[in-house]
Amino acid sequence: MTLNVDPKALEALNNFKLPEDIGFGRTMVPIMAVCDFENGKWGELQLLPYGPLELDPTAKVLHYGQEIFEGMKAYHYEGHGPYLFRADQNAKRFNESAKRMAMAEVPEEIYLEAVRAIVGYSNDFIPVQSGESLYIRPFMISTEEHLGIKPSEKFKFLVIASPSGAYFSTGFLKVLIEREFIRACPGGMGAAKTGGNYAGSLISAQKAKSLGFQQTLWLDALEKTYIEEMSGMNFFSVINGKLHTPEIQDTILDGITRNSLIQLAKDLGYEVVEEKMNINDLLTAIENGSCSECFACGTAAIITPIGMLGDAGGNEWNIKNPEGPIAKELRETLLSLQEGRIEDIHGWRETVKVICH
Ligand SMILES: *Cc1c(COP(=O)(O)O)cnc(C)c1O
Repeated sequence: MTLNVDPKALEALNNFKLPEDIGFGRTMVPIMAVCDFENGKWGELQLLPYGPLELDPTAKVLHYGQEIFEGMKAYHYEGHGPYLFRADQNAKRFNESAKRMAMAEVPEEIYLEAVRAIVGYSNDFIPVQSGESLYIRPFMISTEEHLGIKPSEKFKFLVIASPSGAYFSTGFLKVLIEREFIRACPGGMGAAKTGGNYAGSLISAQKAKSLGFQQTLWLDALEKTYIEEMSGMNFFSVINGKLHTPEIQDTILDGITRNSLIQLAKDLGYEVVEEKMNINDLLTAIENGSCSECFACGTAAIITPIGMLGDAGGNEWNIKNPEGPIAKELRETLLSLQEGRIEDIHGWRETVKVICH
């Protein structure tokens, strides 16, 4: 795979300065990787200066929402790195999403080359404090013109990235149990990382905010009884010392953080239960104290403890131990692994070659 580097991209890199307060996802590195699919094949991978895209106003993504994305991070810590974490898993999931949304699959070499190029060229802009990172956003849109409803035959794959601090600034999340709207149904697209799932969930985010919560906990579509996930994170709780998380099905996004935590928890000697989780059983367990911790996990949020679950009727269930010793131990283990502070027994970490410019 050859990368065609636009001299303007190098110029943009050389002129770029990180602002002091970076936030999450607000500051973008001044380059982007772009590859177009047309006439049944992928073209050349290009490194361009970051900037607006030109699209025909009939481009299918703008009308029919054919879009998928990924979320990854590159880590730098005390002179080590930059590291990627299980990047191959993101590449595979990207293509699972592509299949579900009737889009062209991106060859893994192109996907990984684009991500490595963005990381390699952006090395100077990766924040170095523990918990900070370069947040990487690969995505693909359908660009074919004309308003006819059919799967597009033209696509644009891009990778952009954002030097980022912590995702949540608050300590514990207050989470709304959503009993009105649903996120995904069996046979739907809940397992795909596609914009439409987010578009459909924002009404609940608005509602949560107006009721004093920060996040939504989604229940299953058919019985509104079983816990599925949070809009961009998976859900765990600790009950009688064991970790519980809903088992993966096609209504739940198969989080790489979730998957990694299950393995790391087992390595640490915890029992992990992956099965259907009845919300009422969980609330009872919170009330009687057998549930000691709940937390959300995902690439952006890492592990964020949940302090309270509540509903739109004003009921509240406060978690006994929001400080969460198990969540804390898992977070520390995962982050140490991602930041290169402990041995990588599973072969999940990759050092990216820094490219001087
Ligand atoms: C991305 C995402 C997650 C978390 O997945 P990770 O691979 O751990 O980052 C969870 N739920 C949804 C809906 C997502 O889009």
